[in-house]
Amino acid sequence: MKLESYVGGRWVKGRGVGRDLMNPTNGDVLGQVDATGIDPHAALAHARDVGGPALRALTFAQRGDLLRQIAEVLSANRAEYAEIARLNSGNTGVDAAIDIDGAIGTLKVYARIGKSLGDVRLIMEPGHEALSRDGGFGAGHILTSRTGAALHINAFNFPAWGLWEKVAVALLSGVGAVAKPASATAWLSHQMVRDVVEAGILPQGALSLVCGAGEELLDALQPFDHLAFTGSSGTAARLRAHPNVLAAAPRINIEADSVNATILGPDARPGTAVFDLLVQEADKALSVKAGQLCTNIRRVFVPAPLLDAVRDALAARIDQIAVGDPAEEGVSLGPLVNARQQHAALHGLSRLTEEARVIRGGGVPDRLAGGDRERGAFVAATLLVCEHPDQARFIHEMEVFGPVLTVMPYEAQADAAALAARGGGSLVASVFTNDVEFAAGVAGDIAPYHGRVLIVDESVGKAHTGHAIVMPQCVHGGPGRAGNGQELGGLRGLGFYMQRTAVQGSPVILERLRSMAAEGTV
Ligand code: NAP
Repeated sequence: MKLESYVGGRWVKGRGVGRDLMNPTNGDVLGQVDATGIDPHAALAHARDVGGPALRALTFAQRGDLLRQIAEVLSANRAEYAEIARLNSGNTGVDAAIDIDGAIGTLKVYARIGKSLGDVRLIMEPGHEALSRDGGFGAGHILTSRTGAALHINAFNFPAWGLWEKVAVALLSGVGAVAKPASATAWLSHQMVRDVVEAGILPQGALSLVCGAGEELLDALQPFDHLAFTGSSGTAARLRAHPNVLAAAPRINIEADSVNATILGPDARPGTAVFDLLVQEADKALSVKAGQLCTNIRRVFVPAPLLDAVRDALAARIDQIAVGDPAEEGVSLGPLVNARQQHAALHGLSRLTEEARVIRGGGVPDRLAGGDRERGAFVAATLLVCEHPDQARFIHEMEVFGPVLTVMPYEAQADAAALAARGGGSLVASVFTNDVEFAAGVAGDIAPYHGRVLIVDESVGKAHTGHAIVMPQCVHGGPGRAGNGQELGGLRGLGFYMQRTAVQGSPVILERLRSMAAEGTV
């Protein structure tokens, strides 16, 4: 099997040998991925000149309906996708569901947003700025679809969700997209796009797919285009410094590394519901998607007197985690996505252990429930304790992209917030407490360093959606190390693909515009 790219409205094979697609459970080669010879200028021009105009001829409601239809096609093929995710990403059923159902759910949310915006092509912000004393001259702000293409460069860990969460927002905004999945796991993205193309839902040029290396795509970006990137901060830095990205200056959104934290409140002693809720969530961080979530908990800050209790509770949980072949009954921790990621995680782990003690795990697991220990890419669920987080550096700055977390003590509320901020900007932090004053105080202190803050008390113990789960209604992205990006957030997500324009004029003109627009703030 060699994955093809969908460009210019047809499927094209790369002309090179390409890179191998692997099964990370046993090291088997599944196929190749290659984009050699694909013309990046033609690919982006098709989105810009054919897909964009076709989408913008439709209203928000009509574009939303396209997203609804895509969600239906993906739902119908869900079982096949879960199998690809198992083979190519080493996903368990739970892992695959987070990626695939996350994609379908996000498409449905944006389909509903499109419906609620209605049969218009314009958004107008609420409010009126009076610019003259007699009220005869004023201003309003309108949002119109930008006319460039959207280039989406995605990370390996979410070949389904990462693809569709970006595409959904671009298409609803009226912008044609070219998606480039990470090569290692491109099979799932490829199959999904193939099914959607075959269903004939989208207008020509609305969605293209490049499977293989994507460096040359950057050369084809133009000033009104959009570059939305998810991946490592190293690649992000290279993209930002690319000569054509600097020269053409397209809009850029970066989602990168994140050393996310969770904080246990002083009230959450062993035996309380919030203590258990934190342990449950940290336990998930050590198994779900083998810890390969950008939003995963990496650092756990607990009141110093509770350090031993949290450590022991987590160690007991880890002892129950079965690691191995995701096809085996009861396995909840599969392999990392490939040997390269395994090496990177083990290298990062060795840096963390310069500052922290290993309580459980710490390398390749000794025993596996199925899978190949030598040829597979397994990393044991690893619990570290760092006694002096104020003196540590790697623990706060190095994202080990695997099932690894570090528990650390704090003394006072201000210390907990300051330690969380040492992540240098993260996607998400969570606080587990029933103490409203503590929760509100910490939330205010850490918010400048985070894109999202989850506060869990007993009352939301069952309802909360989890530390790592990105909800399309809420903004996703974080400052600093996390890339300074912002995606999703319901209607707010459309802001990246739309132009805000102040329109100055008479009340009659402004009212006429308002009658043509949906009201909203992006
Ligand atoms: P990566 O190595 O940076 O690759 C990301 C994407 O960039 C891939 O599609 C890759 O293509 C492409 N790429 C690499 N070099 C490029 C270049 N010179 N020009 C154009 N494209 C280039 O990251 P990854 O290993 O896939 O993903 C892991 C990282 O992503 C982690 O650090 C994680 O935190 C981060 N992440 C962040 C979020 C978020 O939402 N903030 C979500 C998920 C993951 P190839 O695969 O073809 O090389």
